[in-house]
Amino acid sequence: MPIKPRALIYQCNQCDWKCIYAPSSDALLAPPPQTCKKCGGSELVGKPADALDKLMGAMGVITASKTHPF
Ligand SMILES: [Zn+2]
Repeated sequence: MPIKPRALIYQCNQCDWKCIYAPSSDALLAPPPQTCKKCGGSELVGKPADALDKLMGAMGVITASKTHPF
């Protein structure tokens, strides 16, 4: 059984913006975000995604590859 790459959550220290970064072994994705797409802050903290974050990512609520307008 293949081991899936670990998803990471990047969260802004200055606002509530966050996105999930879930690398896939068979697809090239954009690199992890360096700046907040909401406030432009550069203090993003990466941490392993928890179950809820993964669920949200699976639902397409937050992704690393597209900007969600909220
Ligand atoms: Zn922010």
